[in-house]
Amino acid sequence: MSGVTGTQPSLEAASPFDLRVDLGNDVPETDVRTALANGDMGFLHSFTTGSAVDGPGVRVVAWTTGCMWRCLYCHNPDTWTMRNGIPVAVSRAIEELRKYRTGLKVMAGGVTFSGGEPLMQDRFIVKMLAAAKGMGIHTTIETNGYLSERLSDAELDSIDLVMLGIKTWGNEKHKMLTGRDIDPTLNFARRLAARKQPMWVRFVLVPNLTDDPDDIRNIARFATELGNVERIDVLPFHQMGRYKWERLGMRYALDATESPTVEACERAVEIFRSEGLAAH
Ligand code: SF4
Repeated sequence: MSGVTGTQPSLEAASPFDLRVDLGNDVPETDVRTALANGDMGFLHSFTTGSAVDGPGVRVVAWTTGCMWRCLYCHNPDTWTMRNGIPVAVSRAIEELRKYRTGLKVMAGGVTFSGGEPLMQDRFIVKMLAAAKGMGIHTTIETNGYLSERLSDAELDSIDLVMLGIKTWGNEKHKMLTGRDIDPTLNFARRLAARKQPMWVRFVLVPNLTDDPDDIRNIARFATELGNVERIDVLPFHQMGRYKWERLGMRYALDATESPTVEACERAVEIFRSEGLAAH
């Protein structure tokens, strides 16, 4: 990792596409384990402000580090490793959030916990969610759902909106794309549906990887049958994260993959709409 470390950056970042590595390396392993167990400390890539694409209204986004998946198209592979993030006391993270409280309410926004995979640090996230709700801030988590069983029903109550990433359809394709089984994600969607908990689905459209119309239609039908999916976001693959793979010295399988065309995005959106979903 030499050559990619620098001085400790601020918690606030201009963009999650800033490369951040090794920022939590000084934290002893026992402290990491304690932090994960009690949630008194978390590891954050950054806070970014002013997002209009990570949930309703204008959002503050807390980008956590740590992810157990290895999506071929991941834009932020520096967030896979928890210790790449800044170690932050939960009290400090809550104070950071408090700064935005009034503005978020004025702009009908809220806080979104994204990553990485926020549920890698489920106890920290639960504390942050409770604090946000205590401030009257709308809460969203963007998750792959894989570790959702770590959350009790009472803890789910503190989440106003779940943005669930459904990456593809079929277990074999899912394992090829992410390294993990699809069932935990789908089971989480079913659990949220049974609770009538609002959900958005996020789907990344990647040419020659996730653009099979049959797969998209299967995701659409699944989402329709759930009954709690308010919105589908079709997100065009882009190469803004490519430099991170290079800087981290990792082989990037999608080096030559281009962004989908506008027409291809429209075709995917249309499949979702044809199944009765609000897709964008
Ligand atoms: S789940 Fe998200 S953060 Fe994790 S590897 Fe996939 S795209 Fe990257």
